[in-house]
Amino acid sequence: MSPVHPHPDRRSPLVLEVHELGRRAGAMKRIETTVPAPADLGIEVIGVPQDSDVEFDLTLQSVSEGVLVSGTATVELHGQCARCLTDIEDEQSFDVQELFFYPGREMEEDESLVVDETIDLEETLRDAVVLELPFTPLCREDCLGLCPDCGFNRNLDPDHGHGEKIDPRWEKLTELTGDNPN
Ligand SMILES: [Zn+2]
Ligand SMILES: [Zn+2]
Repeated sequence: MSPVHPHPDRRSPLVLEVHELGRRAGAMKRIETTVPAPADLGIEVIGVPQDSDVEFDLTLQSVSEGVLVSGTATVELHGQCARCLTDIEDEQSFDVQELFFYPGREMEEDESLVVDETIDLEETLRDAVVLELPFTPLCREDCLGLCPDCGFNRNLDPDHGHGEKIDPRWEKLTELTGDNPN
C-alpha cells in the first residue's frame, strides 16, 4: 500500500514551485517570502493568528534524494500568560528543516514528497512552530502571577499581600460595607 498524495493546491501560498532546481544536486535557491498564516497554527494557550504574516527566509537545495529546505519562519504569537492571564504578543523565529523526497521510492510514514514539482510547506511550518510552543506560556520568566486571595496581578505590586497592607481597592470596599477583612 502506498500512501495517497493528493495533487498540490497551487493557490496555497505555502506551496512552492521547485522545478527551477531541476534535479541537479547542489543547485540552490534562496526564498524570502511573506505568506498569510494558515488556520489553527498553534495550541490552545498560544498560537499564530490566522492570516498574520509568516516571514520565510529559506534556502532550497537540490540533493540526490530530493529538495532540502532549511531556514527560518518568523511569526507573530498571541496568547495568554499561564500565571497572570495577561495577553502575550510576541514575535518569534523558528528553525525550519525538511527534506522533500522525489517520488518513486519506498515511502516512510510522515515523509514529505515533491509532488508535481512543488513542495507544500504547511506541515513543515506546523511542525516547526507548534512542537516548539510552550504549554505554559509566560509574559515574562519571573511573572509573579495572581494573588490567590483576591486575584490581584502581583506584577503590578510585588509587595501585595493581605497582612496589615490592604489593596486600596479593597480598603474602599471595606469602608463601604463596614466589614473588616481581617
Ligand atoms: Zn504573567
Ligand atoms: Zn490579594
